[in-house]
Amino acid sequence: MTDELESCAVCGFVWDVISPPEIAPRMIAAMEFAAGLLEVHSENALLRRTPDQWSAVEYGCHMRDVLYNIRDKMVLITVEENPQSLPLHGVPRVELGLYRHEDPQTLAVEMRLAGALFTRTFDALPQSSHNRMFLYRYPREAMRNLIWVAAQALHESEHHAADIRQVLSN
Ligand SMILES: [Zn+2]
Repeated sequence: MTDELESCAVCGFVWDVISPPEIAPRMIAAMEFAAGLLEVHSENALLRRTPDQWSAVEYGCHMRDVLYNIRDKMVLITVEENPQSLPLHGVPRVELGLYRHEDPQTLAVEMRLAGALFTRTFDALPQSSHNRMFLYRYPREAMRNLIWVAAQALHESEHHAADIRQVLSN
């Protein structure tokens, strides 16, 4: 690693420049944007454009479950010393077909709810929890503080909102 800030190779998100006050409004906006697209394009939301690219519903379910998962991780990090990881197993959830019965309209409600619950929990956490450390395995295995982990939740929301826009366009 150089001293260059780490960024997402796909969307350019830079975790280390995110400040706590911007996480909630940006996450709410990304979840609202993606949920709105699912509502408007619900007839196409279950289709895959190619066999290898997730459908809009699969991306949306992933976004929802990431936020619930990281919300619980933030509590673990705050309460426990060096907590055990709580893996999402995001790809297996899709491959096991756990999302195949999801309804786009219901999902849109759940995505907004996931954003609201995440941000309320994050905003309620004591300041003292912000620098507590946790072993996080994405995009590489590294010790991260809680602000970084919350920024990663924001990244997932914004990155996959863009995926949903892309798979539902034209
Ligand atoms: Zn990204």
